[in-house]
Amino acid sequence: MNLILIGPPGAGKGTQAKQIESTHGIVQLSTGDMLRAAVKAGTEVGKRAELIMKKGELVPDEVVIGIISDRIDQPDCHHGFILDGFPRTLPQAAALDDMLRAKSKKLDVVIELKVDPKLLVERIVGRYTCAKCGEGYHDVFKKPEKSGVCDVCSSTEFARRPDDNAETMNTRLMAYYRDTSPLIGYYFCKGNLRTVDGMVAIDQVERAIEKHLVEARG
Ligand code: ADP
Ligand code: ADP
Ligand code: ZN
Repeated sequence: MNLILIGPPGAGKGTQAKQIESTHGIVQLSTGDMLRAAVKAGTEVGKRAELIMKKGELVPDEVVIGIISDRIDQPDCHHGFILDGFPRTLPQAAALDDMLRAKSKKLDVVIELKVDPKLLVERIVGRYTCAKCGEGYHDVFKKPEKSGVCDVCSSTEFARRPDDNAETMNTRLMAYYRDTSPLIGYYFCKGNLRTVDGMVAIDQVERAIEKHLVEARG
């Protein structure tokens, strides 16, 4: 099963992708995570993306299209994948259609996580992750069971993204509503859009998504 999670920054795409990954055995492909890894490793792509990401703007289409096309060819994607943060523009969506056709793959469902913009800032400024295993947390909504210790790997080191601040948030939201939100109409017209209320608790969102996945799998 191949699917897209679409929604504004902070909507819960990463959180839900991790869940789907473990229940369905398909891989999460997050262009944000891949770009952050490239920045950390100091690759050519990383050097090109670093400042753009810090400002909250979008990395050029050809960069992310290339990354995703290579990644989809990896053997762990054969059972299926969850696109998290890609496509983000209409040209990226068109490129995805072309690449899937060329690879004889198809998109089963597009899940939109709908969240009110005024909730997103709170989600973003409270977000942090385990520095060792990447598990996601939130200052208010998803605290580790034991304060300061990762539930998954027991690490005591955590990290916050440099772009997760109230100032950059505005640029990122603007980019979402300007460049990414037209994709909602695009996938609606193609017939595979399913919309989920992303403002309820994490496990309720999980259950709503699961219903659509079961339906899409047939
Ligand atoms: P969030 O989950 O908060 O929306 P991401 O981790 O998906 O953030 O993305 C972080 C940043 O990486 C974006 O603000 C953008 O600069 C860049 N980025 C990620 N995916 C894409 C993409 N598909 N196209 C262009 N830029 C991207
Ligand atoms: P995205 O990948 O769409 O940018 P994340 O999955 O990283 O979003 O979620 C952003 C922050 O909000 C994280 O700290 C996460 O723990 C928290 N979060 C995710 N979903 C919910 C939810 N349904 N209710 C409350 N907090 C949530
Ligand atoms: Zn951990």
